[in-house]
Amino acid sequence: MLPYGRQSVTDEDVAAVVEALRSDWLTTGPQVDAFEADLAKWTGGVGVTSVSNGTAALHVAYAAAGVGPGDEVVVPPMTFVATASSAVALGAKIVFADVEDETFCLDPAAAAAAVTSRTKVVSAVDYAGHPADYDALRKSVEGSDALLLADAAHSIGGMYHGRPVGSLADLTTFSFFPTKNMTTAEGGAVAALDPAVLKRARRFRTIGQVRERDELRFPDEGGWYYEVHEFGLNYRLPDVLCALGRSQLRRLGEFVARRSALVARYDEALADLAGVAIPKRKAWAEPAWHLYPIRVLEGRRREVYDRMRAAGIGVQVNYIPVHWHPAFADLGYRRGSCPVAESFYAEQLSLPLYPDLSEADQDRVIDALRAALRAGSTRTAAAA
Ligand SMILES: *Cc1c(COP(=O)(O)O)cnc(C)c1O
Repeated sequence: MLPYGRQSVTDEDVAAVVEALRSDWLTTGPQVDAFEADLAKWTGGVGVTSVSNGTAALHVAYAAAGVGPGDEVVVPPMTFVATASSAVALGAKIVFADVEDETFCLDPAAAAAAVTSRTKVVSAVDYAGHPADYDALRKSVEGSDALLLADAAHSIGGMYHGRPVGSLADLTTFSFFPTKNMTTAEGGAVAALDPAVLKRARRFRTIGQVRERDELRFPDEGGWYYEVHEFGLNYRLPDVLCALGRSQLRRLGEFVARRSALVARYDEALADLAGVAIPKRKAWAEPAWHLYPIRVLEGRRREVYDRMRAAGIGVQVNYIPVHWHPAFADLGYRRGSCPVAESFYAEQLSLPLYPDLSEADQDRVIDALRAALRAGSTRTAAAA
């Protein structure tokens, strides 16, 4: 089965990991600081802390924003469930706001309508690698105390009005899961514009430990001493994986360019194909395409999904609207409350997209899609 996404690992990546394995540190060694410094070159200099995965990144970011019981967090439903569930873990109430109907990123008007005096964070998701409209989203939170968060699990390496992802929101979270634009196996990161917020993020990631002498309540206790002022968790990313991340970052530019070239090939092959709609892009965006999300029209998504899978093409559906999950439904969230996301979901299909996808394999995907659409229409024609 051709996967919908997969990592690209070279001998250099392997060598970097082996070197870290043979060093004195397996975790929290020099590779961690070096990886964070390398990442900051992609966020336009915005400070970054590494964490153990993208879900942890969201949990850390929400904790750093001060999210707690009773606070509201605005989230679009067209995302992976973790964008919402990691805030629920801190006691927040999720308020779902619908997406725009071209990019399927959080709709700034819907976000503005969802913001109340209890809103702590408004979370946008750079769906498929296309950045959300951050200038408009900034206006939606103006006049409130809410911070703006970018879930950039899909979009590291992307640009908005010429500004890099990682610099666009108060907090940005990344995931380095193998299907994402670069990988550390499991891994993630949080970028924060405000150094005080970044410091809180780092502390939450490291069990809440305070070691800075000038902040200790009892600074003269001894060299071993640290204090916990606010509770945290262990979300550290090991040195070994940071070494892999540094090696991968050296190719992130290539990855983004290769994904873009494959997207252009899909666009050209599928633009005039009846029965599907290809993804759109805003003039101000330079997406770091993570997914190639098409829409299968005329109620045929399920059928085309099954035919493609049967043909050995690992298509995927991204995403089940988050508020549809029973955990949210049991809290009273209703289907039908975010119609744009829900009608998109009904038609959405992700075609394989990853740097090592060959043009021959991509042609196989395109042929399988044409065949799947033809097979259905022949049957319809025969029945008519
Ligand atoms: C992958 C992903 C996450 C979670 O990342 P993990 O590293 O798998 O925990 C969060 N949000 C979005 C939009 C994602 O695609």
